Amino acid sequence: MSAHHPGSAARLRIEKVPTDLFIGGRWRPSGDGARFDVHDPATGDRLADVAAATPEDALDAVAAADAALPGWAATAPRERAELLRRAFDLMTARAEEFAELIVLENGKTLTDARAEVAYAAEFFRWYAEEAVRTLGSVQTAPSGGNKILVLRQPVGVSVLVTPWNFPAAMATRKIGPALAAGCTVILKPASDTPLTALAVAALFEEVGVPAGVVNVLPSRRSGAVVGAMLDDPRVRKLSFTGSTEVGRTLLAAAARTVVNCSMELGGNAPFLVFADADLDAAVAGAMVAKMRNGGEACTAANRFYVEASVAEEFTRRLADAMAALTVGPGLDSGVQLGPLVNAESRDKVAELVDETVRAGASVVTGGEPVAGTGYYYPPTVLKDVPPGAPVLAEEIFGPVAPVVSFTTEDEAVTLANATEYGLVSYVYTGDLARGLRVGERLDSGMVGLNRGVVSDPAAPFGGTKQSGIGREGGHEGLLEYTESKYLALSW
Ligand code: NAP
Ligand code: MG
Repeated sequence: MSAHHPGSAARLRIEKVPTDLFIGGRWRPSGDGARFDVHDPATGDRLADVAAATPEDALDAVAAADAALPGWAATAPRERAELLRRAFDLMTARAEEFAELIVLENGKTLTDARAEVAYAAEFFRWYAEEAVRTLGSVQTAPSGGNKILVLRQPVGVSVLVTPWNFPAAMATRKIGPALAAGCTVILKPASDTPLTALAVAALFEEVGVPAGVVNVLPSRRSGAVVGAMLDDPRVRKLSFTGSTEVGRTLLAAAARTVVNCSMELGGNAPFLVFADADLDAAVAGAMVAKMRNGGEACTAANRFYVEASVAEEFTRRLADAMAALTVGPGLDSGVQLGPLVNAESRDKVAELVDETVRAGASVVTGGEPVAGTGYYYPPTVLKDVPPGAPVLAEEIFGPVAPVVSFTTEDEAVTLANATEYGLVSYVYTGDLARGLRVGERLDSGMVGLNRGVVSDPAAPFGGTKQSGIGREGGHEGLLEYTESKYLALSW
């Protein structure tokens, strides 16, 4: 693995990305002039510095979003749709630039970054199509004497807070439906990856979004900046994607002004393999579920439960596939696993593996931190993982696959559900009836049945238990940015 220097083309593109705050249609420095650095996880080198919003800047953004709200909410749905469609077209035309930017600040491979950009842009196309499907209803009241008319109205000024692992898609998955519904937004991106969010802001400026409809505020003072916005009565919606820990804090903060909340939080996905499964397909699916984004996905398979009669063979084949991955800087061709996002994440993954080995698990492949620059951790498979090992309870967020065996379907379901998380579960079986039966019993918002990836802009994405509240994507994703208005009628 060599020290990585971004090519001159990538450098040029980074210099084109604006680095100030985007408030009310203008780029401006933060009120106190503060800035912070953004790093390349492949080298630790500084890539750029960006303005760091203050709580006062955040309130300026709320004022801009509030001023823009009546006009935007009254815009013809067709016009909002066409603006989102132009955003889709422009993001698609710039896909390669967005992908390289994501690799530079996040570290994922170019293949993963290209897939993210396609996924991210698709939220603009999907919600361009949804914007004109503003459904309401009229009923006759049971008494027969009056009518019940229900309209869907935009919820209002929306604060969007996003994580670093999908810097483009987590932003577009919120901005798309919010704008389609007629809401105005203030996006607070993760401090590790603000550049992609600023490039999305520039894209909206270019397609001609009215001033104040989209505002973007990088900041390292996240708690103070988001807290100031939640305390402002003009803010009516919080859509957060990130850790369960921060989600709990924000739910408590949102309680002060009773802000409407959608929460996409952490996961701890079980991946079940029954003996009747096609093992080639199960290993291929496991590689996607585990290794998409280098394991840094809320949907990442975190625990593998394999029926005892095939556990050894599955583990060997998975370890072979993991060991064959090429590790290196995400922009290098042929690289299949990049660095983790920062040193803290890399150290956390290493510590989880060490603890699990001390608890009695054995390493099939990987398990040793990679020396040198960049925040690398090797593809790792652990077997004989004892029940209660922290690696089974915590979100790993890295390229580590712990394997546990089971003997009955009931045991598999019980093990899978034994977590406070409930985002997604995966099941591999050759018996469709079993797959559907188990799928129904798994306590998670999503189930991949003989599939290692569930994300689709047209589908409702989200979790049960402490993985969240609400859904993003699909028609449900639009409804999160609306309120029902009921008119009682006599005619
Ligand atoms: P995080 O630490 O919770 O941060 C998420 C966002 O919240 C960032 O923008 C962060 O800003 C901000 N933040 C942190 N502390 C805050 C506070 N006290 N008040 C207001 N905002 C605050 O999560 P992360 O480390 O970026 O991302 C990884 C987590 O996201 C994982 O748990 C993963 O499962 C989850 N995730 C969930 C989904 C889903 O759809 N369910 C999707 C992707 C990721 P700073 O960067 O400045 O700290
Ligand atoms: Mg964090």
